[in-house]
Amino acid sequence: MATTKVAIAPMKVAQVPKAGADFQIVKREIPKPGTGQVRIKVQACGVCHSDVLTKEGSWPGIQYPRVPGHEVAGVIDELGAGVSAWKQGQRVGVGWHGGQDNTCPSCGRGDFRNCRNLKIPGISYDGGYQQYMVAPVEALAAIPDSLGAVEAAPLLCAGITTYNALRHSGAMPGDLVAVQGIGGLGHLGIQFANKFGYKVAAIGRGSENAALAKKLGASVYIDSKATNAAEALQKLGGARVILATAPSSKAMSELIDGLGPNGKLMVIGATFDPIEVTPIQLISGSRTIQGWAAGTPADSEDTLRFAELTGVRPMIETYPLEKAGEAYARMMSGKAEFRVVLTM
Ligand SMILES: [Zn+2]
Ligand SMILES: [Zn+2]
Repeated sequence: MATTKVAIAPMKVAQVPKAGADFQIVKREIPKPGTGQVRIKVQACGVCHSDVLTKEGSWPGIQYPRVPGHEVAGVIDELGAGVSAWKQGQRVGVGWHGGQDNTCPSCGRGDFRNCRNLKIPGISYDGGYQQYMVAPVEALAAIPDSLGAVEAAPLLCAGITTYNALRHSGAMPGDLVAVQGIGGLGHLGIQFANKFGYKVAAIGRGSENAALAKKLGASVYIDSKATNAAEALQKLGGARVILATAPSSKAMSELIDGLGPNGKLMVIGATFDPIEVTPIQLISGSRTIQGWAAGTPADSEDTLRFAELTGVRPMIETYPLEKAGEAYARMMSGKAEFRVVLTM
């Protein structure tokens, strides 16, 4: 029977069919970009711990099947109607910030990062675990020529989050900044903190990562299994900022006494467990606790430019798209060194 189909080659997609289900590799038609959107030929997509929200369905209102992925690097291969600021063939990335509504009170103040209706790739619409993806122009960041797609991808979530949190933390060059956790976020946090001119104390559990932490730019390594890390920080004068990257509220709580005067616990490691702190701990020394979420595409471009300038790079394990399930399991195991990236 001669049924003819439109001559569009199907593409490969790694999708989550429903909350909690295993990944499926399926074929789909290549999507068309709508008004104000572009289609990206994906070259690499990082596997982030926040992809658990898509995999397990813990984000309210998420619909299935859904393609995860918010660390996307690729090339624009088609422009939708009304797109003038971007061109075909341009290298672009998409991170956690998948588009704002431009109408809410935060957007009215130019605070797009805190848009009430923020769209997130891989949650609000299909993300980068696929060969082609459609994204609104509000989500696009240009990638500098000297950065490859595989090394750029993790900078679009893990990179921007650590870079942006640190540069808004209030720490000044020469200040003592501690980075808790030497993992996907922490290994980038140590590098950025070093390049920002801070005295960097890396805090890890066990001594395995001591040499690596020093190589990445830490001047002090604190093994929180062997020593009281808060006391160790106080001996160094107290931290101006502690960048808390490991998703352990207990570990974060234990560090608060390591903050110096006006010190800040900057929380980026996401968990649902409560951080424990007494009012006295905050009042003495005027300490604060703040959370931070990624940033806008303009922040992504700053991150990529800074990485290009200073040589900050993620450490990566790559997997082909077909092995998305394996790649995700590796990321979840906590044993990856340090970011897992899918290649198309
Ligand atoms: Zn992420
Ligand atoms: Zn908004």
